Amino acid sequence: MGSLKCVICGKPVGEAEAVRCSICGAPMHKSCIDEEVLSDAEGNILCPRCAAIAALDWLDNILSLYAHSIKGNDREEVIGRLKTLVDLLKQ
Ligand SMILES: [Zn+2]
Ligand SMILES: [Zn+2]
Repeated sequence: MGSLKCVICGKPVGEAEAVRCSICGAPMHKSCIDEEVLSDAEGNILCPRCAAIAALDWLDNILSLYAHSIKGNDREEVIGRLKTLVDLLKQ
């Protein structure tokens, strides 16, 4: 039986102690999880990938419907923050 690896730190995590992502089932150490950051609206724990995709889906919906209503400096702020996130992922 192969040992599980925590998707956050990459170190082994025991089957019994592993917290599983409620979407994809990825194993994580409880100590690697910031529950405030990785919980969804129902309080389920997600892995960082599924949490990021869920947040992007939400943002996608907001901007698809309401981008036209975000104007001027507010629009520049949103664009600036999106660029910062892209840079973070490209590091
Ligand atoms: Zn870990
Ligand atoms: Zn996941």
